[in-house]
Amino acid sequence: MPNIIHIPGGEARSFLLKSGELLKVTDVEGKQVADFIAISFHKKDEYLSTAHTRTMNSRLTVMKGDQLYSNYRHPLLEILEDTVGVHDTLYPCCDPMRYKLDFGVENHRNCRDNFAQALEEYNLDYGFIPDPLNLFQNSPLNADGTFANFTEPESKAGDYVVFKSLTDLIIGISACPQDMTPLCGYQITDIKAEIM
Ligand SMILES: [Zn+2]
Repeated sequence: MPNIIHIPGGEARSFLLKSGELLKVTDVEGKQVADFIAISFHKKDEYLSTAHTRTMNSRLTVMKGDQLYSNYRHPLLEILEDTVGVHDTLYPCCDPMRYKLDFGVENHRNCRDNFAQALEEYNLDYGFIPDPLNLFQNSPLNADGTFANFTEPESKAGDYVVFKSLTDLIIGISACPQDMTPLCGYQITDIKAEIM
């Protein structure tokens, strides 16, 4: 019987994922970026590091079969299935300054505040939030290494990624509230997480 966590569009949730459990993250309606972070339950200063994952896998992105590494280079998760194949490991969470500096908007919902709220029960605060794996985010690079403009995600309704947990983890997922670029197709929708 799967344990289902519903993440409303623009919000975040956190939950525990035990070693050996599978986690399916589904883009319910399509074109919705899900910022994804993972923290060791037993050692709170150890977390999924996109920088270490890129280095250990010798690749800028992630794909089926990859292990995802911590800031101590331990494998924390493995990607068992991926129906999209387009994700981002380069961008930080959106945060209040992103909306203020780039769009002149104050008090916009953002992934970093979302995570800080969702992780409060584990005594993890805003300053701690690690850079996320941005599931379904389509942010290609130009040949000269500069960032190309955001493109809408390739994920369609029901597309998903399945992870296997290799240790006990605190998982955070934010259904990114970025509605001012094509990042989420200009429409913020829900993400579903299922522990199997
Ligand atoms: Zn965001």
